[in-house]
Amino acid sequence: MKFYSLNSQNIQASFKDAVIAGIAPDKGLYFPERIDALPPAFFDEIESLSDHEIAFRAIHQFVNEDIPDDVLKKIIADTLDFEFPVVEIEDNVATLELFHGPTMAFKDVGARFMANCLGYFSKGEKQDVTVLVATSGDTGGAVANGFLGVDGVKVVILYPSGKVSDIQEKQLTTLGQNIEAMEVHGTFDDCQRMVKTAFLDSGITDHKKLTSANSINVARWLPQLFYFLFAYKQAKSKGREIVFSVPSGNFGNICAGMVAQKLGMPVQHFVASTNMNDVVPQFMEKGTYEPVPSVATISNAMDVGDPSNFVRIRHLYKDDLDTLRENLSSYSFTDEMTRKAMKEIHIKTGYVMDPHGAVGYLGLKEYQKQHPDTFGIFLETAHPVKFLDVVEETLGLSPAIPPQIQKVMDREKKSHIISSYEDLKDFLLA
Ligand SMILES: *Cc1c(COP(=O)(O)O)cnc(C)c1O
Repeated sequence: MKFYSLNSQNIQASFKDAVIAGIAPDKGLYFPERIDALPPAFFDEIESLSDHEIAFRAIHQFVNEDIPDDVLKKIIADTLDFEFPVVEIEDNVATLELFHGPTMAFKDVGARFMANCLGYFSKGEKQDVTVLVATSGDTGGAVANGFLGVDGVKVVILYPSGKVSDIQEKQLTTLGQNIEAMEVHGTFDDCQRMVKTAFLDSGITDHKKLTSANSINVARWLPQLFYFLFAYKQAKSKGREIVFSVPSGNFGNICAGMVAQKLGMPVQHFVASTNMNDVVPQFMEKGTYEPVPSVATISNAMDVGDPSNFVRIRHLYKDDLDTLRENLSSYSFTDEMTRKAMKEIHIKTGYVMDPHGAVGYLGLKEYQKQHPDTFGIFLETAHPVKFLDVVEETLGLSPAIPPQIQKVMDREKKSHIISSYEDLKDFLLA
């Protein structure tokens, strides 16, 4: 299967080349040239398939020309060694818990899958690949963990000093080996700008193979479709039409869900739930896409003013807003509404939602007002302990720190402090 650039379909790459480059030479996002539906029997029998079997069959068509079946099976087994439970918290409202991985954020699956692919593609290559990534928090930890110890791959993570949580900082600064953390005196936007400048700087790219581990990379984006299939497998017996609500920032996760639907997964509707960064809800209402600088919220992993994967969703629907609206709704919520939902659910059911999951819950409830006969699933994208301050302030309780987090909290931080692009460049070329 080839992947083409969304800026010009004449620019094509194999899966391997798309993964190594991250983005097309014309700066377009790569997109699969075809999405062939799986046979109906796959969905009829899905309950009898293991998660590994489901993942293998779903991703096979996209990667099989570049990864042999036995290697793909191994990559899937290494990526998916934890649970993805659907937990019903109210009648016909369930959450798909995506936080049982090593860094307790849903990005673990994409980061691990990409790391394994890149590790496989780097075998026998003379030159190492350097993964350069800017993080506002969660991506850094998942990428560091996923790529740790992968031969032929170096990882350089930029994060804004003092602007990530203690847990997040430990997750990205304590691993050592092939992982380097750059602590930037500045904001997340400064980090992102430095990364973008580096990709365009031939003074670096003439000497180093650079790639990105952001959800623009197809190897990080596509495996997210597994979640929706695992949820469908668990919810199918409910006998109701299924709706997914996805707390969204860069819109990679929800777009992967819509690819699962193109594979033939029966689902009635998707809801893209956002915080006050509401470019997409506005677009769905008015039909004009107007990116704006992001605003800070309590669900900060979704503070994105110009979501990079939304072009992929538009492309899936051939840019036809009317058909897109039949399949996708989008709503935005304030921090106050988010906290209120966290409190109410906790009092009513005892369930502790993190602020991102709570935004997903609110979007689902909004849709179900008009469609009460559905079975709704909202994605819980992070463990509440990763947003400890907000959970403590809002619910007045401290969730217990799970062992995989505690282990990291006890390690020593190591970072390189930088304040300008030149510092980064010197580091990369050293
Ligand atoms: C990254 C992230 C999101 C947003 O996912 P996108 O694929 O960028 O839409 C939501 N919640 C959490 C906790 C995240 O880390």
